[in-house]
Amino acid sequence: MSELETLYRLQQLDARIFELRAAMENHPYIEELAELRLEEEECSRRLSEAESSLGASSRKMARLEAEIVSLDDKLSREEGKLFGGQVTNPKELRGLQAEVRSLRKQKDALETELLEEMESQDATRAVLEELRTRHGELKSRIEDKEAALRAETGEMGAELESLEREREGLSSLLAKDLLDLYDRLRAAKQNLAVVKVVDGVCQGCRVELPGKEYDRFLKSEGIFRCSNCGRILVR
Ligand SMILES: [Zn+2]
Repeated sequence: MSELETLYRLQQLDARIFELRAAMENHPYIEELAELRLEEEECSRRLSEAESSLGASSRKMARLEAEIVSLDDKLSREEGKLFGGQVTNPKELRGLQAEVRSLRKQKDALETELLEEMESQDATRAVLEELRTRHGELKSRIEDKEAALRAETGEMGAELESLEREREGLSSLLAKDLLDLYDRLRAAKQNLAVVKVVDGVCQGCRVELPGKEYDRFLKSEGIFRCSNCGRILVR
């Protein structure tokens, strides 16, 4: 290959490398995955909220149950005194009756509270169950999507690697000055530094080369640049 042919091949490689990188970076699955991961995070957050609210509810129920047990003890003691026949003083008996009524009332209130807490805990459990299912679904959708992305970009990645190896080989054949010019042009000219001339028209800027310039180009051996866009021209 002549220097120019090598340069042109390098340009083709770079164009494909650029295309592949863009396709990999902009793969639609990447955005879909980002959205799924956001959803999964939100679900995870709600899940731990529900779990901690379930924990708080269980602690509250245990406390209510313990209070009810202790009230029960107190109640049996007072009722024992009331019905045991040891207390005969009417004033004292009335006092005991009032105490028993008040303890029963407290116990009723605690039992109602316990019942309400159980109902609310059932609701929380149902929500938790739903969230766990949803979370599991999201996780497996993410895994599937990641695998699909790997499968789709794997081939591109392999092609990219082989192109990059070829590129390294080719660029080692070119003079540093020429490579520098090529890189500068590529940076300035939308990644397109070396272009063909077809029917006298530069394929980089689509401007027709003036007659004399075209003649000189056809006879030229070395590097020839478009007078309009500055790109390196090949036949
Ligand atoms: Zn041009």
